[in-house]
Amino acid sequence: MTVINENRPPVFILLGPPGAGKGTQARYLQDRFGLIQLSTGDMLRDAVARGTEAGKQAKSVMEAGDLVSDDIVVSILSDRLASEDCNTGVILDGFPRTKAQAKVLDERLGATYQRVNAAISLKVDDEAMVERVSGRFTCADCGEGYHDRFKMPRIADTCDRCNSTNMSRRSDDKADLVANRLRAYHAQTAPLIDYYSEANLLEEVNAMEDIQTVAVAMAQIVDDIIVCAD
Ligand code: ADP
Ligand code: ADP
Ligand code: ZN
Repeated sequence: MTVINENRPPVFILLGPPGAGKGTQARYLQDRFGLIQLSTGDMLRDAVARGTEAGKQAKSVMEAGDLVSDDIVVSILSDRLASEDCNTGVILDGFPRTKAQAKVLDERLGATYQRVNAAISLKVDDEAMVERVSGRFTCADCGEGYHDRFKMPRIADTCDRCNSTNMSRRSDDKADLVANRLRAYHAQTAPLIDYYSEANLLEEVNAMEDIQTVAVAMAQIVDDIIVCAD
């Protein structure tokens, strides 16, 4: 029998296609609940920038808008999950993205008597995602996300959070690549919605609403679960 200790750090998963708002919402939840945002996309981009072995293998796959192999992603995430700062609980932003990753995660958490507390699916229309992704930019210094139309900095090109003027755009955020990334999402990641629904862990949010409305819905879900687990 597996003993689940409810006092273990909570684990939330954010599911959704590119542009759904996973990163944006993960940062809000991090600020509000002290959970740690773990973005496998950010970890992979960092590995590519540092030129590690994993980064070298991931680079061309990411540039094509395909999914990086389960082995590489699982290894990168496992290292990070083991660090002490994750003891307050985590929000997995962009992981798992395949059923194989979901199963490894369940096993990995089970070994320390943890489990996934909820998988929150951000429901959006594919057609809207091209605009979301192609208008995205990020503060290179603190990671705050922005959008040309939906979330502009208060002062043009200056980060609201840290005042940096060092903004960056992802090379895979071009409109022609988004279609392939959406295809990868539907083929390999969307089946996880059933996986977590069958496990009674699925929560759905209408992520077509504006950023603040989605944030309120997400906070409600996380709050209910954290309070119940206390
Ligand atoms: P993901 O991490 O799921 O790829 P992001 O959080 O990076 O998505 O959001 C993609 C882009 O869309 C960003 O530029 C962000 O500012 C913007 N955005 C996020 N959520 C919304 C929303 N609910 N409405 C409009 N724009 C949004
Ligand atoms: P988005 O925010 O648009 O959903 P991410 O930053 O999460 O994109 O991921 C960027 C790219 O990194 C993906 O297109 C994919 O190539 C790779 N990637 C990120 N997470 C995973 C994962 N869990 N499994 C496989 N590939 C991943
Ligand atoms: Zn900043």
